[in-house]
Amino acid sequence: MNTRPDQSLISPFRIPHFDAPVVDGRTCNAMSIDVEDYFQVQAFDGQVRRDDWEKMEWRFSANTSRILDMLAQENVKATFFTLGWIAQRCKPLIRRMADEGHEVASHGMAHFRADEQSPQAFRSDIAEAKAILEDVAGVAVTGYRAATFSIGAKNMWAFDILAEEGYRYSSSINPVQHDLYGLPGAPRSPFYPCANEAIPEIPITTVHLLGRNMPFGGGGFFRLLPYPVFRWGLQRVNRVDRLPCIYYMHPWEIDPGQPRIPGAPMKSRVRHYLNLARTEPRLRQLLKDFAWDRVDHVYAALLNSDAARKAND
Ligand SMILES: [Zn+2]
Repeated sequence: MNTRPDQSLISPFRIPHFDAPVVDGRTCNAMSIDVEDYFQVQAFDGQVRRDDWEKMEWRFSANTSRILDMLAQENVKATFFTLGWIAQRCKPLIRRMADEGHEVASHGMAHFRADEQSPQAFRSDIAEAKAILEDVAGVAVTGYRAATFSIGAKNMWAFDILAEEGYRYSSSINPVQHDLYGLPGAPRSPFYPCANEAIPEIPITTVHLLGRNMPFGGGGFFRLLPYPVFRWGLQRVNRVDRLPCIYYMHPWEIDPGQPRIPGAPMKSRVRHYLNLARTEPRLRQLLKDFAWDRVDHVYAALLNSDAARKAND
């Protein structure tokens, strides 16, 4: 029996069938890390100019290394959606991701919102990031996540460009209501966002409750919600919806000692600094409580059938 509850939301999009992998009786979920530093986030866009990034105290290398250590201890492989800007400045970190069996994926060059770029600017951004990451990591880069989940109704053209530039999947839509991003009517499971089915979108995890999609994918909500509530949500997605979860976090979220950005608005400060000290112990627990793998492995059945279908077209 198909127990997925969100069939009414999906009419414009085709949802392909795929079977989530199961490890030791547990659904295998996708672990992802968006590799950017604390001063590169959209919340501080008005306070820190890109021209000043070179002058900031960089903490991405130490924080990402700690996450890599944690993943190694728990024997978990993950996907690192990494800025090209970071790959240019810290090659050993990117090589370590690849050497330790993680997926190196693209988060664009310098955290520009995709919905504020022209199609031409978007194309050169994602192509440059892919080339740099592949050069540094020595592996193919096929996954993409837009900065601040900034693909939505007004820039669906981005999917065609991703496919044309050699990407095989996107994880750029968070199907929730939010002031900075979101496409609440989008499906909660992988779908083809364009009629030509150029590339599948793997949306961030939500829990469908009381007619709404609640954010349960990670980030600030992982720090806000009590851990047992977050765990309940992911268990519900696995058991009731019978879907894998796709979780995301940032290296700066395990760094309570990061320099404070002066002059940031109250809302940005609350979102960014809330419960930073709790993220690392919660993440350790999360790694133990669920089965995890990199995005391209969890969705391998989907991605391989997509590739086979295109080969036959
Ligand atoms: Zn980001």
